[in-house]
Amino acid sequence: MKTLSKTTIEFLNRSPKLFINNEWLDASSSATIPSFNPANGEEIFSIAAANEPDVNRTVEAARVAFDNKVRDMNPAKRAALIHKLAELIEQHIEPLSQLECLDNGKPISRAVADVKAAAAHLRYYAGWADKIEGSSIPVNSPNIMVYTRREALGVVGLIVPWNFPLVMAIWKLAPALACGNCCILKPAEQTSITALYLADLIKEAGFPKGMVQVLTGNGKTGSLLSHHMGINKIGFTGSTEVGKKVLEASAKSNLKKVSLELGGKSPNIIFDDADINRVHQSLLWASFYNSGQECTLGSRVYVHKSKFNEVVDELVKRTSALSMESGLANPDLGPLVSEEQVVRVVGYIDSGKNEAELLLGGNRKEGSLSHGFFVEPTIFTTSNHSATIVQEEIFGPVVNVAPFEDEEEIIAYANNSRYGLASAIWTKDISRAHKFAHRIEAGVVWINGYDLFHPAVPFGGYKESGIGREMGKSALELYTQEKSIWTNL
Ligand code: NAD
Repeated sequence: MKTLSKTTIEFLNRSPKLFINNEWLDASSSATIPSFNPANGEEIFSIAAANEPDVNRTVEAARVAFDNKVRDMNPAKRAALIHKLAELIEQHIEPLSQLECLDNGKPISRAVADVKAAAAHLRYYAGWADKIEGSSIPVNSPNIMVYTRREALGVVGLIVPWNFPLVMAIWKLAPALACGNCCILKPAEQTSITALYLADLIKEAGFPKGMVQVLTGNGKTGSLLSHHMGINKIGFTGSTEVGKKVLEASAKSNLKKVSLELGGKSPNIIFDDADINRVHQSLLWASFYNSGQECTLGSRVYVHKSKFNEVVDELVKRTSALSMESGLANPDLGPLVSEEQVVRVVGYIDSGKNEAELLLGGNRKEGSLSHGFFVEPTIFTTSNHSATIVQEEIFGPVVNVAPFEDEEEIIAYANNSRYGLASAIWTKDISRAHKFAHRIEAGVVWINGYDLFHPAVPFGGYKESGIGREMGKSALELYTQEKSIWTNL
């Protein structure tokens, strides 16, 4: 079991504050929200709940910073600040990963990988800061000159979920800062600790006051940000249900720009000609990575009928061998994030027991793990494509496996979902793979692989999985607006 460092322990003893204008301030109300260690259910921290006066003063500080410092900051300076933040994150891998592991529950080695990925993401966008260009447009008249500029939006609210707390925050902060915005980060109430730790590093990196602020709180704080007249954009990652509320809040307030990274129910399709050894290795993690709390989880597994028994037997065998423990012991799988999430996932499992055949798992962990939020990795099989467990995002370690016969049938099954985030196809037939890639209604297609990510590659959803594309050059469009400038010569 990993021993906690002195820095980690000291950070956990901090009192609940908000990070406003590069200072740690008390919230206007003394209400706090507890944070629990998902491995044992013990309270480890508490966060301040930002209320309307807090949101107002934070937005005001961001506006002052934007007007006075950030709007005209040299892009090379923005790049240097972002690089510095990446460097500091790399110097603080130990406390950041320990805090992430304690707060979210994930295995410590995965938390370390997340922290490194966050730093890499920042470095990628630091490279963009001085390359955000407009264009010059010929308009068929020698007397007219037109050019465009891509300008920062101003004050942006960034609302993130609890499954990859630091990474999700950085996915938004990195492009928003590269584009020259002032950011108000609202982490999830279940997992705010690493965002608060990050705030210290932001100050140390030298960001001017008001350029990045961190407001903790629950959905009410997120809602106040979404409705605020002084905010120009909300970048949101979370559930489809809340994403719709954010969009509605924009319509009811100032029509702020909104980008949404939402839920998924991704199909992972295995043809009879697939390289079965690679499938076996990948399928386990495509199905249970991060204890299933992953938006791209391959929760609908379809296997060609001729390989169905072989693939499913192997998945059951490998899943049965997964270790499950406190994240600090670096098991294969950690607990779920909260008691609420256990109740939600077990509720889906119970409905699955009525509508599908249970092949493995199906229960909350008992015995020595009963105080924590552990749920067994669970495999169902049903060919009822409208079953609840096949249609709804469970966001836990639960997959359904179903057989299929041919290409036409499988594309219909795969697209039979309100979601369209990710998808995968396993086949050696390159033309079949690309035909599928063109017809699937999903923002990402992996051919003979799963969960491949890179900061340079756009990511986002079709249908109810979201609006907009994060990552890559695409994210610059989310955090800038284009202005056309006409000159009558
Ligand atoms: P959630 O929607 O409950 O909460 C997300 C964030 O929104 C939290 O910070 C929460 O406090 C805030 N919030 C809650 N109510 C709000 C409101 N009315 N207005 C504004 N903000 C509000 O999601 P969650 O349970 O934290 O995360 C799980 C969900 O996130 C899953 O659906 C998952 O698929 C999705 N997710 C998507 C991606 C992606 O990139 N597409 C990545 C990770 C997670």
